[in-house]
Amino acid sequence: MKNEIKVKVRNDYAKKMKDGFPLIEKEALINADILSEEGQTLHLIDERGRFIGRGYYGEQNKGYGWVVTRQQDESMDQSFFEKKIGTALQKRSGFFKDESTTAFRIFNGEGDGIGGLTIDYYEAFYVLSWYSEGIYAFKNQILKALQNLVEYKGIYEKKRFNTGGKYIDDDDFVTGERGEFPMLVKENGVQFSVHLNEGPMTGVFLDQRDVRKAIRDRYAEGKTVLNTFSYTGAFSVFAALGGAQKTTSVDLANRSYPKTVEQFSINGIDYEAHDIKVMDVFEYFKYAVKKQLTFDLVVLDPPSFARSKKHRFSAAKDYKDLLKQAIAITEKNGVIIASTNYSGYGMGKFKGFVEKAFKETGHRYKIEEQYTLPSDFVTTKEYKAGDYLKVVFIKKL
Ligand code: SAH
Repeated sequence: MKNEIKVKVRNDYAKKMKDGFPLIEKEALINADILSEEGQTLHLIDERGRFIGRGYYGEQNKGYGWVVTRQQDESMDQSFFEKKIGTALQKRSGFFKDESTTAFRIFNGEGDGIGGLTIDYYEAFYVLSWYSEGIYAFKNQILKALQNLVEYKGIYEKKRFNTGGKYIDDDDFVTGERGEFPMLVKENGVQFSVHLNEGPMTGVFLDQRDVRKAIRDRYAEGKTVLNTFSYTGAFSVFAALGGAQKTTSVDLANRSYPKTVEQFSINGIDYEAHDIKVMDVFEYFKYAVKKQLTFDLVVLDPPSFARSKKHRFSAAKDYKDLLKQAIAITEKNGVIIASTNYSGYGMGKFKGFVEKAFKETGHRYKIEEQYTLPSDFVTTKEYKAGDYLKVVFIKKL
């Protein structure tokens, strides 16, 4: 292949890479110094010079890029992207047929064979997220591949390749018609207001779909609900539609208030019958203890890292303490829904925090059910960190 550079993989990394591990870890390469331009195609060989696979150079905090094929004769051209996206679309055919859900993921990075790229569908609009300059270098081929495969009104993009995976604030419109935002999409019959050209987030986190449905269908009826780190109030809306007595949504960001009001209103719920608080969750916990407020259902869905004026939170270190604060204001036989999208640990360790938090507060508990990513967020078993979502429904006994 033209313009391809040969990179040598250390023996202790070569085996798992041959077996399907898709990430090109920084420590894996012997001659990383020859990487010079993001988007370079890499011909990966082992220490004896044998072909392992082909990938691209694109720095993310996780590594130098991704292996995308282990076939010698396959290169990263438009037909390659068409094949990968085509297969991914077929896997979501059930979603396209289901009229009650019109927003979902059609391409999930390494789970669908190309790390660093995701594509989401929002009712006739597509949103491409680029996680490195390297994958962005293939934009033309990827865009053409998508355009050849689907009908669409418009295509948007999110460039997340600034240092540390941060979003680059731009006009996110790419091609087709511009949408009128906010626009309405549906999830299991519930309306969501989304904005595809207003920063990195669209208004809904699609990976929590199954959790929202469970709340509405099986956990909310007659309950008092506290939704922490509530963003646009998606969990609160599903709880309200499931017959919750009352929901309380707490988020620090000013935008969360109007967004949550809107979210309730488009679903025909009187937002004034619910509480929407713009404040620090950790301050809210103190307030609730002081006022002796308790809840039947508490949702914890913090970002992996958060910093407010008075508090710092890191899912790696502080989740146990967050749980303890939630336990203190949860009714007996109430349920805590603990969620994290932190990819640095798996379900086992996450449940370890649950165990410790209950032990240290002197309460017993029972895990009612647990969730990982929904089926449109396809993952590969060779790359465990890609299956980042962990949600446990815990009953306080
Ligand atoms: N649970 C939401 C998504 C949460 S996104 C959903 O299902 O849609 C994380 C949110 O946490 C952001 O809206 C951010 O404003 C909020 N946040 C971060 N730190 C916070 C804090 N200390 N107190 C309250 N909200 C916080």
